[in-house]
Amino acid sequence: MAIRREENSLYGPDVLAYIQRAAEHGVYDIRGLGAKRRVPHFDDLVFLTASMSRYPLEGYRERCTTKTVLGTRHAKKPIELAIPITVAGMSFGALSARSKEAIGRAATAVGTSTTTGDGGMTPEERESSKTLVYQCLPSRYGFNPDDLRKADAIEVVVGQGAKPGGGGMLLGQKITERVAAMRTLPAGIDQRSACRHPDWTGPDDLAIKIVELREITDWQVPIYVKIGASRVFNDVKLAVKSGADVVVVDGMQGGTAATQQVFIEHAGIPTLPAVRQAVEALEEMGVYGEVQLVVSGGIRTGADVAKALALGADAVSIGQGVLMALGCNAPRPLDGGTHEDVSADYAKLGTEPGYCHHCQSGRCPVGVTTQDPSLELRLEPTEGARALRNYLNVLTMELTTLARACGKSNVHHLEREDLVALTVEAAAMAGVPLAGTSWIPGRRSSEPGGW
Ligand code: SF4
Repeated sequence: MAIRREENSLYGPDVLAYIQRAAEHGVYDIRGLGAKRRVPHFDDLVFLTASMSRYPLEGYRERCTTKTVLGTRHAKKPIELAIPITVAGMSFGALSARSKEAIGRAATAVGTSTTTGDGGMTPEERESSKTLVYQCLPSRYGFNPDDLRKADAIEVVVGQGAKPGGGGMLLGQKITERVAAMRTLPAGIDQRSACRHPDWTGPDDLAIKIVELREITDWQVPIYVKIGASRVFNDVKLAVKSGADVVVVDGMQGGTAATQQVFIEHAGIPTLPAVRQAVEALEEMGVYGEVQLVVSGGIRTGADVAKALALGADAVSIGQGVLMALGCNAPRPLDGGTHEDVSADYAKLGTEPGYCHHCQSGRCPVGVTTQDPSLELRLEPTEGARALRNYLNVLTMELTTLARACGKSNVHHLEREDLVALTVEAAAMAGVPLAGTSWIPGRRSSEPGGW
């Protein structure tokens, strides 16, 4: 008799495997990177580039400025960047010291900033990074006043897009003697980072913390506040009221080195509506332009950067794309001439190049997210820096290509009016008209774009 295979949309093969794994082992899934489910994203927007009613700029002769300044509200020394593309916070511990060094070198070469992460600042990272943002996280692992004073900006992390409301994880296999010493915790033991700061429970306490940080740094450097995108409108307002110079909003497509799968796929809102809500909050408070907005979570291409800026961001921040430029998910480490194909190492993790999300394992086949002495040698910092520099340069060229095509001599002149959406969902979330109409779903008839 022929076997009948009827698809079950509720209990498909993935769900079945999940239930069987849970039943067999009694533990939940932990993994790295970000949400994989399809949600409305920047791909669902397109630019209305110049034609008759707008004039494009000539690519070879007419300049298009990318200079970006962050932290103009209170800091004596705002951050000045050559491009509006920054590197997101990723910890030493999650990443190897060599990866952090490569990132610092590349960021410095293209004139942008990089960011520490849970676990503190390494000397390699400080020395290689011209502009370094120092994170103040709930765990306070590796956090100290000496490093604070070495920072060019401080980022108070309230939450991350991959796990808003949750803390980080670093599994014992990545906790070497050095990582443990920086965190003053035992080596080889799983570490969970706190989900909230130990010394404050709300925006009033955050305001006190920000003043403390300003006094330690003599009001020199900007203070960022980073939130995972959930109740963005209110959270941005509270961050501004607490005294932030810069608000960083990380959408649900943002990555992590390790957290529960249930967080990654089921908490927070996509980056697209997060940008819109953040801009609306800043506008309602009358501080748009005074408090800068940095957006992260699934920024991959120059088009994504251009769309984020057009929606109102001052800059973007990238994590997963940076790891991929360093070799994440490639079949062989970057220095392909001397390194063998490492597909067998992916297979040991139960995966293959292109599908790996096993940063939590400490067995990164390309040496990016590992503390294993032999694996980390697979990433050579100068080679990693070269690749990442190329990636960041390509994003910048794509960004200016689109800006010029929209007739802008400055990428910060891109605006919402330059965009339309290809789907009703994206139009509603981003607050731009559906292509070919003037309709913005969700707007009341009395509002612009409402019907
Ligand atoms: S290749 Fe390395 S960095 Fe990329 S997902 Fe796998 S373990 Fe993580």
